[in-house]
Amino acid sequence: MTNGRRILPDSISQRTRAVHGGSRRSQYGEVSEAIFLTQGFVYDSAEAAEARFIEAGEDEFVYARYGNPTVAMFEDRIAALEGTEDAFATASGMAAVNGALTSMLKADDHVVSSRALFGSCLYILEEVLTRYGVEVTFVDGTDLDQWRAAIRPDTKAVFFESLSNPTLEVIDLRAVSDMAHAVGALVIADNVFATPVLQRSADLGADVIVYSATKHIDGQGRCLGGVICGTRPFIRKVVEPYLKHTGGALSPFNAWVMLKSLETMDLRVRAQAETAGRVAGALASLPGLTRVIYPFRPDHPQHDLARAQMQAGGTVVSFEVAGGRDAAFRLLNALRIVLISNNLGDAKSIITHPATTTHQRLSEDKRAALGISDGLLRLSVGLEDADDLIADLTQAATAMQDGGPPR
Ligand SMILES: *Cc1c(COP(=O)(O)O)cnc(C)c1O
Repeated sequence: MTNGRRILPDSISQRTRAVHGGSRRSQYGEVSEAIFLTQGFVYDSAEAAEARFIEAGEDEFVYARYGNPTVAMFEDRIAALEGTEDAFATASGMAAVNGALTSMLKADDHVVSSRALFGSCLYILEEVLTRYGVEVTFVDGTDLDQWRAAIRPDTKAVFFESLSNPTLEVIDLRAVSDMAHAVGALVIADNVFATPVLQRSADLGADVIVYSATKHIDGQGRCLGGVICGTRPFIRKVVEPYLKHTGGALSPFNAWVMLKSLETMDLRVRAQAETAGRVAGALASLPGLTRVIYPFRPDHPQHDLARAQMQAGGTVVSFEVAGGRDAAFRLLNALRIVLISNNLGDAKSIITHPATTTHQRLSEDKRAALGISDGLLRLSVGLEDADDLIADLTQAATAMQDGGPPR
């Protein structure tokens, strides 16, 4: 131990890293990691303060916007289990997406991005970066020919959601990364839907992996947070200077919640994915449903790629009902266990109607191009009993067919 910091053998597995990685123990020898709910740090002398501002050493802190021991524990633990050299924690997933892109880009740079993105990601690429003179080319992320045509010798970065929201398109990480690396472009993957448990994105070629920790990392719907994982030079020389001065820091309290949640994330995500697979199978035979989208189902257009890239099909199932918005609303209003909300990755199952909520901002044409019809629903499967969820969805689909729930 140095400075209370545990040094773990290199050979330990991802699950062990998720429990012990990054721990720093105070003089009290606590088992459960401490929350250092402090903005500042006291120096022994004026000389010590001066020295720390010239260069903070390993595990030396200056101000919580720059770093904090609890936040550092979370960063080290997620980096250890993700398999990257380092990580920088942020106040939300969007601060992570924005921080990863904005910290490395400048006017006249070129970025290629898949088009099927979460609304706020699309806003950053389409409206924020372009306002500062960054050129962004959008492609159909499932079409390698479009990536090949769009990536140019001067392309600085490619961006995508490895499993897209809400239509669950799968990006071929290896192929896209090879094309990007051939021109020296950085591969930035938003891996929220695939999760750190089910997909080893760094091994597949991603240089930078961003998460909304709000989702599966917290996993119980409490705190907002985000994290950027990457090489030490990228995190400390590119991301950190940008984020520490622009203020997207993660609160130490939220970092503590996320840190402790990483200990159970593997179990939670695997259980949720197993239930999601069963729910997807049951949905396929329900009345009034025209399509079930789940990456591990044989009828998913990229089923083989999903199976090659991911250890399970994920925790989200999307499906389409006949009868558009009215039918979708009838189904939602008849549910008794599944909650109508717009988060995902929670222990509680949550269902969303993207066209009227998360993707409401987009024009009808854009939604249509992304496959977000008025009958599309996105179900985030939680930790409830699979049979209870299937029964709830079955009675809701029946009520939808019968004209809606009794009022
Ligand atoms: C939720 C989400 C984000 C944004 O995360 P916040 O924590 O809500 O800021 C970014 N990307 C994807 C794919 C998401 O699902």
